[in-house]
Formats: sequence, structure tokens, C-alpha cells
Amino acid sequence: MPRDASPIRLYLFDADDTLRRTRVPRQPSPRAPGEWELLPGVAARLRAMPWGPHDLLLGVASNQDQVGYGLVTVRAAHQLLMDMIQAATGIAPPAEAVTLCPHRLETPCACRKPAAGMLLRIMTFYGVSPEETLFVGNAPTDHEAARRAGTRFAWARDFFALAEERR
Ligand SMILES: [Zn+2]
Repeated sequence: MPRDASPIRLYLFDADDTLRRTRVPRQPSPRAPGEWELLPGVAARLRAMPWGPHDLLLGVASNQDQVGYGLVTVRAAHQLLMDMIQAATGIAPPAEAVTLCPHRLETPCACRKPAAGMLLRIMTFYGVSPEETLFVGNAPTDHEAARRAGTRFAWARDFFALAEERR
């Protein structure tokens, strides 16, 4: 059976330039509340989906090397991702399903995308298989992380363009 026949149970999202954008010029990720906003179409699409423990599950996998460079604390970076999901979906996901890579770019690790570590960790947390998981991202590193984790993948522009066409 083709793997696309499995219904999607878990939706994973990249953060920066997939769900949110930073208002501060030349700063790829926010470091404080008020420095970010949801991208157009994101809330409309995600608030229409049935999230919950017995419905669709969600998670976030975000590279946050700015933590490693001391520009923001891991706690603040995680809270900004939690706030983003709350704004986008109207619900608060389990903190364990909102993951970030805090390491410096020059530090080898198993979590920075295109590595699969964050995606695997969230799937393990929920007990959901790669075949039932879709990762939505905007970067080639997101696409490669999905390939390595064995999940399905959608480009953010395609995933969220659907909502805009239906308006
Ligand atoms: Zn890492």
C-alpha cells in the first residue's frame, strides 16, 4: 500500500518563515514578545483543523542557534514558540511537542535540521509513526529532515496557499 494512504495524525511545523516572521530587520528569529507575527493565512488554516488528544496532534521543530550564541535564553525561545502555536491554533500544545535545537552552528548535534532528531523525538512522545506524520516547512533543510525521519513533507507555501484560495 502506498504510504500516502495512511491518514495524517501528527502535523509538525517549522517556525520561522513557515508559521511566523520576525519584525526586526536582519534578525531571523524573534528574541522577545512583540518581535514576531504570524504569516498571512496561517491562523485561518490552523484554526479550522480539529486539534486534540483524540483528533489531530501538532508539534514544532525549530532551529534556534541564537540560543547557543547567548542571544536569547532557551526558556524564552521555547516560550516564544509556545506563544506562536497558541496564536496560530488557539490551543496550547504539550511543551514536550514544541522542540528547538539550541546548539551553535559549529557544534555537531543530532537535532539541528536537516538532522531528524527533533522530528523523531516528537513522534516518540506522541507514539505516532512517520507514515502518519506530515512536516511542513519552508527550507531545504526542513525537506531533508522529513526525508531522514521518514515522514511526509509539504512546503509551507503550498500548505497555507490552500486556505487563501478558499476564502
Ligand atoms: Zn542541536
